[in-house]
Amino acid sequence: MGRVCEECGGRVIRRKVRFSLYGETVGLYPAEVCSRCGEEVFSEETAMDINAEAKRKGLWGLEAKARVTRVGTSVAVVINKRLVKFLGLRLGDDLYIRPESRHRIVMDRDS
Ligand SMILES: [Zn+2]
Repeated sequence: MGRVCEECGGRVIRRKVRFSLYGETVGLYPAEVCSRCGEEVFSEETAMDINAEAKRKGLWGLEAKARVTRVGTSVAVVINKRLVKFLGLRLGDDLYIRPESRHRIVMDRDS
């Protein structure tokens, strides 16, 4: 026992940690956690369990390319169905869009 963190040399302990994706809890999973820097390492088997549960919860495939296209005289951004389902978007919903930079936009629901 007494593994040492590869990042900082701190002591590594084994405990369960909450794994979240997009603000949703996937579950609690065993990990090796550095007591100094907090680095969390999951085994390959645990990573596969996490992926399977994330898929089951519809938290998979939400990152995708979105195409900019023309609709009539407007320009539209086409996003994939999984993301629409995850967000609970419906046709006619209002979204507020703002740039964070020239390379990054943020969309917020009307709430
Ligand atoms: Zn560390």
